Amino acid sequence: MSKIKVLPPLLVNQIAAGECIERPASIVKELVENSIDAGATAIEVGVEEAGSRLIRITDNGCGIDREDLPLAITSHATSKLQNADDLLNIRTLGFRGEALASVASVADVFISSCPSGEQSGYKIRSFGGDVKPLEPVAMNHGTIIEVHDLFFNIPARRKFLKKKATEMGHITDTLTKLALSYHKASFKLTHNNKIVFHVEKTATLKERIEQLLAIGECEMLEISYERNGIEVQAFLAPPEVNRANSKQQYVYINGRCIKDRIVLRAVADAYSDYLPMKRHAVAVLFLQMHPEDVDVNVHPTKAEVRYRDSSGIYSAVYHATLEGLRKGDLRPSIPLFS
Ligand code: ADP
Ligand code: MG
Repeated sequence: MSKIKVLPPLLVNQIAAGECIERPASIVKELVENSIDAGATAIEVGVEEAGSRLIRITDNGCGIDREDLPLAITSHATSKLQNADDLLNIRTLGFRGEALASVASVADVFISSCPSGEQSGYKIRSFGGDVKPLEPVAMNHGTIIEVHDLFFNIPARRKFLKKKATEMGHITDTLTKLALSYHKASFKLTHNNKIVFHVEKTATLKERIEQLLAIGECEMLEISYERNGIEVQAFLAPPEVNRANSKQQYVYINGRCIKDRIVLRAVADAYSDYLPMKRHAVAVLFLQMHPEDVDVNVHPTKAEVRYRDSSGIYSAVYHATLEGLRKGDLRPSIPLFS
């Protein structure tokens, strides 16, 4: 008897889920990215018990056709990629066709969808990977995904969920990062039916950033800059708006939010003459570079990258930030040669 066996598909999906679904916030990220890819202009995230009991995402995007519903929860099934050439030209946040299949294998999941142009929708249920027959459902255009009892069938994983406040913090953070980079939709987050935040869609990205980062009467300085083959679009709060920590500094590389020491160091250095000691800037930076110049970590949830030329990144961000601050015609808060 052969000792090596091909694993059954459900187990394969659960293993994949172990990689991309670390916690409730990972589900929020994957599902909201799908809503954005679907062109939604209104996205609502409702969670109960910090996502361990329920995560519900409602959008008004393009919807999923009836015959595609079973495929949506099949692994390696995607509408966003057709051939190898497409891989070099990805314009969507998703493309691996992995997320819904993973989620559907580790929770009791209901997907209801009504594509634009249809009168009513269909609902499919995956009870931890056990897929039930489609049922018709009356609903508005768009998609509603409900994830009940996360990890109910993998008790060892369920035990690893952290305190509610911690998980809720991750969810809020995740949705904030997505909302900061996508102004064409309204975003609403509720926890146990209480509103955590709600922002309307805005005409520009700058307005969205001002709205979410609550910088009061001030306006963000906006600068576009190119150096060393790196395009930087920076939104910088004037130095009088500063914080006790660097939590309101966001960095996106080729559309993905990452935590990056090199970029944040460059921002801090550029602001240093403008800020009082121990205070931190409020800034959102979008960097675009050739995919070959940045190694997006192979691990699906690790938001870390490695650059081919880190000093090129540093100097691009440093000069972009300085130029932005100068453009704002700001005076350094301390004499430069003191
Ligand atoms: P990927 O996003 O990598 O394609 P997913 O598993 O996240 O893979 O989703 C599978 C497919 O289901 C998507 O390619 C898309 O066609 C469809 N889909 C998922 N969520 C939505 C949504 N909110 N609105 C419309 N289509 C969706
Ligand atoms: Mg996806």
